[in-house]
Amino acid sequence: MPFVITDPCIGTKDTACVDVCPVDCIHPRKDAPEFEAATMLYIHPEECIDCGACVPACPVTAIYDSVDSVPSSQKDLIEANQVYRNGDAAAMAAAEAIVQAHIGARADLMQLDPNERQAAH
Ligand code: SF4
Ligand code: SF4
Repeated sequence: MPFVITDPCIGTKDTACVDVCPVDCIHPRKDAPEFEAATMLYIHPEECIDCGACVPACPVTAIYDSVDSVPSSQKDLIEANQVYRNGDAAAMAAAEAIVQAHIGARADLMQLDPNERQAAH
């Protein structure tokens, strides 16, 4: 089961997880052309080796250790992690559409500071 990034990454996106991932499966990297436009980062579900290094690195506890552990308020973002692909504009648009829908639907979470969001999941 791959690890999954959820909404505390929105507004944080500091790439601390990218720096510790041994297989470089968290996208987009800071040096990727997609980085500025990406609202959050995504974990490639087939590249992730479930090592767990990214979880303690995340300052806002945005990363869950499996699809099954993602709480109900964040289930929509599993698909965003699954569909995003670097260098694929359509895939990025699909992932971003899911994220924007999440932002629109979860005003309760979005009004919180990213540091407080995970506790409210
Ligand atoms: S669990 Fe390991 S391989 Fe998967 S995204 Fe996190 S750091 Fe990368
Ligand atoms: S460490 Fe957390 S907040 Fe930072 S980019 Fe990764 S998932 Fe997003």
